[in-house]
Amino acid sequence: MSEQSDLLIVGGGLNGPALALAAARAGLSSTVIDALPRAELEGARFDGRAYALALASVRLLRAISVWDAVADNSQPMLDIKVSDGRAGEGPSPFFLHFDHAEIEEGPMGHMVEDRYLRRALLEAVEAAPQVTVINEAQVVAQQCGPEGASVTLASGEVLHGRLVVGCDGKRSGTAARAGIRRHGWGYGQTALVCAIAHEKPHEGVAHQFFMPPGPLAILPLPGNRSSIVWSERDATAQAINALPDGDYLAALRPRFGDFLGEITLEGARFTYPLGLSICERFSDWRLARGWGCGAWHAPDRRTGAERRPARRRRPGAGAAGGARPWRGHRRAGRAAPLPGVAPLRHRHAGAGDGHDQQAVLERQSTAACHA
Ligand SMILES: Cc1cc2nc3c(=O)[nH]c(=O)nc-3n(C[C@H](O)[C@H](O)[C@H](O)COP(=O)(O)OP(=O)(O)OC[C@H]3O[C@@H](n4cnc5c(N)ncnc54)[C@H](O)[C@@H]3O)c2cc1C
Repeated sequence: MSEQSDLLIVGGGLNGPALALAAARAGLSSTVIDALPRAELEGARFDGRAYALALASVRLLRAISVWDAVADNSQPMLDIKVSDGRAGEGPSPFFLHFDHAEIEEGPMGHMVEDRYLRRALLEAVEAAPQVTVINEAQVVAQQCGPEGASVTLASGEVLHGRLVVGCDGKRSGTAARAGIRRHGWGYGQTALVCAIAHEKPHEGVAHQFFMPPGPLAILPLPGNRSSIVWSERDATAQAINALPDGDYLAALRPRFGDFLGEITLEGARFTYPLGLSICERFSDWRLARGWGCGAWHAPDRRTGAERRPARRRRPGAGAAGGARPWRGHRRAGRAAPLPGVAPLRHRHAGAGDGHDQQAVLERQSTAACHA
């Protein structure tokens, strides 16, 4: 049986090309197969996704010689500020602050829009002699056994290799065909995702503001722009998403605050349902599962029927409702009450019971992966 290449990688999104480039450095050849046409894969338009690349991810991209192609379009994330509160009341006086000055390696991470990362990876695999890229070819079957591995394309063509790797996304057909079960559940939350332009510079600071229905992430992009990942309960998110742009921004403002001046929408808005999805195992005979993050922010299990006016302020809060323990702390503006905005039994990290502190910390650690 003649081998097409060492690795047969199903999926040419982010993980497939990154793996092929890393394998090439180890002297292994790969064939990367994707069902989508090249132009669609590259997706030159912003689809709302922007990644917070941690230092380790940047190191990986450097190691596979892709970082230089994305660096110009990346935004160093100097500080991460995590607070909680409720819409229109401003953040609690307790917060977490991760300062890049406290680590030697440099920024806490880099923000990169999906489109730039994707394009850089695609161009790199196309230039790599050890990698064969096949687009517009759907893998419909795989055979993995002691003598080798192969995949069958929808056209009937069979490609042979030594290992099949499923980098085919969250609902991996490769894993399903191997009988690898997925576990998970929906969080009942939806992320409203968009990019915004703002008057004042963000100074490389990423914010996570935890509210009862879910967190709002404000993630710095190059220029006076930020990526917004705004989690709400499903019904509220649907209601907000159905609003025209002006009303959508009016709903965002009380959560976002006025610390970056006037905000405007940049491009389209998107929604992504949030949930957990994890495979029960990641390998089988001559088969491996390459996977991106499948979990998002932990669900907010604190619910309550009580509703309080969103403009209630804590004693001592300033005119805009926010304590300002550090320069440039985000301040919330005045809230227009929104349907479905659940109340918070207000406890602060460090001031509440152990359960609430744990909830804050769990969200913090998942946010570090997904923010
Ligand atoms: C708003 C948003 C923000 C995010 N932020 C982050 C973040 O900050 N950090 C982070 O780590 N992740 C983040 N994610 C998640 C991240 O986008 C995914 O983890 C990542 O795209 C997964 O990459 P992948 O290559 O594994 O899969 P995908 O990018 O989904 O690619 C899978 C590819 O497989 C192909 N394919 C599927 N089936 C077949 C088949 N049978 N035959 C051939 N081809 C097939 C598809 O066409 C597709 O191109 C975010 C996601 C969203 C929506």
